[in-house]
Amino acid sequence: MQKFELIVIGTGPAGEKAAVKAAYFGHKVAIIEKEQVFGGAEVVTGTLPSKTLKETALYFSGKYEKGLFGIDRDLQHEASVDDFMFRKNFVSETAAKEIQDNLKRHGVTIFKGTASFEDPHTLRITGPDAQVVQGDYIIIATGSYPYHPSSIPFDGKRIHDSDSILQITRFPSSLCIVGAGVIGCEYATIFSTMGTKVYLVNDKEHILPHVDHEISASLVQQMQAGGVEILFNTSIASLTPPKTDQEMVEITLKSGEKRRADMFLYAAGRSGNIKELHCEKIGLEVGPREQMIVDKQYRTNIPNIYAVGDVVGFPALASTSMDQGRVAVAHIFQTQDLHNLPTYFPYGIYTIPEVSMVGVTEDEAVRDQINYMTGVARYADMPRGKILGAKAGFLKIVFSKDDLRVLGVHIIGHIATELVHYGVILVEEKKNLNDIIGQVFNFPTLHDLYKYAAYDGLSNVAGHKVKP
Ligand SMILES: Cc1cc2nc3c(=O)[nH]c(=O)nc-3n(C[C@H](O)[C@H](O)[C@H](O)COP(=O)(O)OP(=O)(O)OC[C@H]3O[C@@H](n4cnc5c(N)ncnc54)[C@H](O)[C@@H]3O)c2cc1C
Repeated sequence: MQKFELIVIGTGPAGEKAAVKAAYFGHKVAIIEKEQVFGGAEVVTGTLPSKTLKETALYFSGKYEKGLFGIDRDLQHEASVDDFMFRKNFVSETAAKEIQDNLKRHGVTIFKGTASFEDPHTLRITGPDAQVVQGDYIIIATGSYPYHPSSIPFDGKRIHDSDSILQITRFPSSLCIVGAGVIGCEYATIFSTMGTKVYLVNDKEHILPHVDHEISASLVQQMQAGGVEILFNTSIASLTPPKTDQEMVEITLKSGEKRRADMFLYAAGRSGNIKELHCEKIGLEVGPREQMIVDKQYRTNIPNIYAVGDVVGFPALASTSMDQGRVAVAHIFQTQDLHNLPTYFPYGIYTIPEVSMVGVTEDEAVRDQINYMTGVARYADMPRGKILGAKAGFLKIVFSKDDLRVLGVHIIGHIATELVHYGVILVEEKKNLNDIIGQVFNFPTLHDLYKYAAYDGLSNVAGHKVKP
């Protein structure tokens, strides 16, 4: 039986980074993957595919730099679904290969097959590399799968979850999406940009409840202007699947309203991928939604077994999953280089337009009775914004009125997910408005938004509105 210091289950971002880091520090590491294609939801069903489709939709709609995608350079004909999927497939395939190469380069032993526990140190692999292996430590990085309510007859053709929507072979003329979280909102804007009529069913009064209310209101406005019909404060009561290719999916909402759509996407909730592990056999503690219960170091109730990434639940992002893997390895092998995830990390929502944020929202500042103020700058007022023809985007800083410290940064608009990183540093390093004003940025850039928002904040504190 082969023995290792560390065995990682799953090659998504959490598993890959954990395995590579441990191997980099000279440890004997193995990784087990049940799918043919490496990379998990980041590469196959989630992050990179959906982000590529967003950029592709912008390209096809004529809102993006021509020639970037090497697809249909002159757009002589209407985009087909093959054109639409071309770049996504290319990005997924190359990313999956790079992960496999990275693991090999670091000397990680790769087993193809499904892992399950025999005892806390022993895993049985079934599949192509069937055998039993032993590890001093084991990291579970098995990710998550889309939640399937029993009332929805998913068929992967007309009635989809977020995995199967990536396999469509034709564009839907209309699409009803249930769930106005990140995944639902992203696909709503991608498909509506491609010309699909989109209905977005949201059981709350606002979309994206964790996002600053002005930002989510602006996104709602822009989604509606782009043709997305958002149905607030309701959820699905029943769904009748079509009997023929010509018939539509019939959706009845709890509000009594009905909608007919060519395709349906259920995008509300995910559960941990643990069924095949047989956690019960070794007494591993599991929480609600099949998520592993871990401490701050990502250790389960069994001391040599750790769990990282989506399988431990919130925040369930590729970005944080990678670092959770690295933190777990740092604790296992005492590498002394990374103890915890940072307190503040950014959220990126790749809708059209993008939304990104870090730190305290205005609503949280009100709730926590913080003596706060805000400063706002609009893309359209920035020289770079004018060059780009930006219309609706803005950046908002939430800061302490007492010492001008930046508490949160919230952005909606072009490359918001890139611009936010300066905000992460401001919040994490407790910088204030004067620190922003004292920085020199390239000119013209969208980073000017930070300076103008800081000046706006100072004007608000002084009680007068003067344009800097
Ligand atoms: C549509 C969508 C869009 C997203 N967009 C973003 C985004 O923009 N930014 C962001 O940061 N995050 C995004 N995410 C979230 C991100 O994809 C996940 O948080 C991330 O992939 C989780 O990584 P992971 O390594 O924990 O699990 P996964 O990526 O799910 O990988 C788990 C791996 O484990 C394997 N596995 C499972 N069980 C076993 C077993 N028993 N034996 C062997 N192998 C097993 C699986 O096959 C899989 O390869 C998105 C997700 C979705 C669905």
